[in-house]
Amino acid sequence: MPNVVIVGTQWGDEGKGKVVDALAPHVAAVVRFQGGNNAGHTLVVNGQKIVLHLLPSGILHPEVTSLIGHGVVIDPAVLLGEIDRLTARGHVLSADKLGISLSAHVILPYHTAVDQARERARGASKIGTTGRGIGPAYEDKVARRGVRIADLIDPARLALRLGEILPEKNHALENWHGVAPITADALLNELAPMGARLRPWARDTVAEVHAILGRGGSILFEGAQGTFLDIDHGTYPFVTSSNTVAGAACAGAGVGPTAIHEVVGIAKAYTTRVGSGAFPTEDLGAAGEALRAIGAEFGATTGRPRRCGWFDAALLRQAVRLNGVTRLALTKLDVLTGLDRIPVCVGYAGFDGTFPAALEDAVPVWEELPGWSDPISGARTLGDLPREARAYVDRLEALVGVPIELISVGPEREATIAVGGLFAG
Ligand code: GDP
Repeated sequence: MPNVVIVGTQWGDEGKGKVVDALAPHVAAVVRFQGGNNAGHTLVVNGQKIVLHLLPSGILHPEVTSLIGHGVVIDPAVLLGEIDRLTARGHVLSADKLGISLSAHVILPYHTAVDQARERARGASKIGTTGRGIGPAYEDKVARRGVRIADLIDPARLALRLGEILPEKNHALENWHGVAPITADALLNELAPMGARLRPWARDTVAEVHAILGRGGSILFEGAQGTFLDIDHGTYPFVTSSNTVAGAACAGAGVGPTAIHEVVGIAKAYTTRVGSGAFPTEDLGAAGEALRAIGAEFGATTGRPRRCGWFDAALLRQAVRLNGVTRLALTKLDVLTGLDRIPVCVGYAGFDGTFPAALEDAVPVWEELPGWSDPISGARTLGDLPREARAYVDRLEALVGVPIELISVGPEREATIAVGGLFAG
């Protein structure tokens, strides 16, 4: 198995978790490289639904090492909660199975308070963040006033660090955000026990990644969110606060570009988006509502209804460029069952070879493809799909220009058509 990056090619929630879970048995380690617990990957295993926010989606495979790279921001309470929930279900998360980078930044209680206070103050123009403190934690990282896992697990270092940070932080909390200030003692008392619990898993994950590569083991780098939420390439300012594109795997996991062999882009057979911002193919009518209901399009992290619309080949072609996508996985094809005709955006009027700097200027050029009515969730080979469903997949593949090697036809692990390439074995 080559070293693979998995990225969302739309606005997140493409079903990356299921695809990572499918590939995980073939790699030595799965590494998360960016984002925080604003991501939510949903896995359905043996009829049980498991939502992961911070733990890599390979965690359910006992033989695979799961690493949280330093590009991730970690809310220790959330991570411990997730570890406890999986442990209660019988998963053994031993120190050799799970590793947390010493250099990953920590989401502190004031990050969450600031995130929520800002969104409240923005009112109608809110970004639509999950309010989990991810943006403020990344801001502090860049401003060089962050707390890292290495600080969290060492009470003396933590006390020192908080002593440096808190005077300025409290000034802003009180006088600008209208949030109560925090004393170093209170914060230490809250954080130190969590640091102590996380200590066994905290280590140099870069060294571990390279040790695995040195042994000839392969690595799956797991992205969170989606390409058009990327801080540089997304629909700014309605974006997340990290780079979500495949290149971020290098910075966030500690490998060079030459370590990456394949980039698998995950795309829904239609499009969804959570929060504010441009969405050229959004369907605000009954068909959009039907997609939401049938596709259960409600956020795994917040429960918020997702905005729904049609497949956008122009968006996908841009995602292919930005990520260097070599193969595509198409998810939730089953959700389109029962539609008479399926609209697909084949390009944006006036943009040929270029991509609009402001996506709200994009006017889709539509094509309509025939739908199918027979259920497809039982399909396991291309031959099991109705003719129209195959034609739909073929047309998307031609429009995007990258082979579709996996088709997902239901939430369960088994509800998958492996067309070839990486997924064939
Ligand atoms: P991720 O963050 O990209 O992993 O995506 P989410 O987990 O937020 O959203 C994907 C949702 O779709 C989850 O609830 C999955 O169980 C579900 N899902 C994944 N693939 C399929 C599929 O092919 N069909 C259907 N109906 N649901 C799917």
